[in-house]
Formats: sequence, structure tokens, C-alpha cells
Amino acid sequence: MSTTHELAQAIRTVPDFPRPGIQFKDITPLLSDRDLMAKAVRALAEPYRDHGVTKVLGIEARGFLLGPMLAHHLGAGFVPVRKRGKLPYHTYAEEYTLEYGVDAVEIHRDALREGDRVLIHDDVIATGGTASAAGRLARKSGGVVLGFSFLIELGFLEGRGRLEPDVPVHAVLRY
Ligand code: AMP
Repeated sequence: MSTTHELAQAIRTVPDFPRPGIQFKDITPLLSDRDLMAKAVRALAEPYRDHGVTKVLGIEARGFLLGPMLAHHLGAGFVPVRKRGKLPYHTYAEEYTLEYGVDAVEIHRDALREGDRVLIHDDVIATGGTASAAGRLARKSGGVVLGFSFLIELGFLEGRGRLEPDVPVHAVLRY
């Protein structure tokens, strides 16, 4: 069986969670399997090996699960991008639109150094609003965004269209 197929089989689709109509992609079965977790990290890292990534930005909350392992694998540091009001120190914020209204994500102002080479990670890209805001935070903080690495892309939502056109976007699995 191919790695992609193995990984896909370990992702559980939960209908109508957290709201009616959402097909939630649950990665916890994959995480609980030692070998699949390692394969997922390698697949996320693969396109960015030898790109000199210095920081992986993980998006709250499920970008915190594989993000630090991805960072370790690439020899980079890990930086959390959190929902508004969660980070304790001075922050930059970027807003993004939701189905109803706006929300914001934040980064610590001193999390990146000028010229840091940044890879942005989340488990799922849906509409792309959060990942796009994370990209703006990275640039505001002096980082150079080398790319985006997602485990799962919900292609029908066309989220990658909201990201910078000149920045590579990789997803291990597409639905
Ligand atoms: P986005 O619409 O791309 O800004 O996604 C918002 C957040 O919700 C991201 O962190 C995604 O990982 C998560 N998310 C959106 N849709 C799903 C889904 N169907 N299953 C699991 N996570 C999701």
C-alpha cells in the first residue's frame, strides 16, 4: 500500500461535527499509530527538505500536533500562531473572515528574526482564511514565507486560492 493510501485510511471523517454539514477530518487515529505519525511528518517535510527552513509556524490548535515534529525533522524552531487573546506577550494580529463575522490570529512580536525562512503548517486547509492570516503574520514579523505544508486539503473549498500566488502550497492528501 502506498504511504498516501495508508495515511488516508487512518483519517476518520466525522459527519456533522462540530456543526451540521461539516465533514470533520479527524487525525487522531493517525497520531496514535507510531509508524504512521512518523510517515506523516516525513511527507509534510519532504517538499521543503534542503530549503533552509528556520521556523515552522503551526496554527492553533491542530497545527500544534505535527508542527513541532515537522520543525524538529527540518532542524527548525517552532512558533505557535494562536487565536486572539491566548498569547501572553506582545503580539501582532491579523484578522480573517469566517462564515459569520471575523476572527483574528496572533504571533509573538519577537517570535521571528528578520529574514527567518518560514514554513506554515496546519492539519487541514479548508477555506484558507487562517493560513492566509498566518502568512501575513509571518511577513509582518520579518519572515520570508517559503511555503505551506498541510496534511489535508479540502480542494472543493479552493483555500489555496486565498494564499499568496507565488508561494508553494503542498498537501499530503486531497479531498
Ligand atoms: P480555514 O477555513 O482553512 O481557515 O480553516 C479553519 C480551521 O479549521 C483550520 O485550522 C482547519 O484545520 C480547520 N478545519 C476546517 N475545516 C475542517 C474539517 N472539515 N475538518 C477538520 N478541520 C477543519
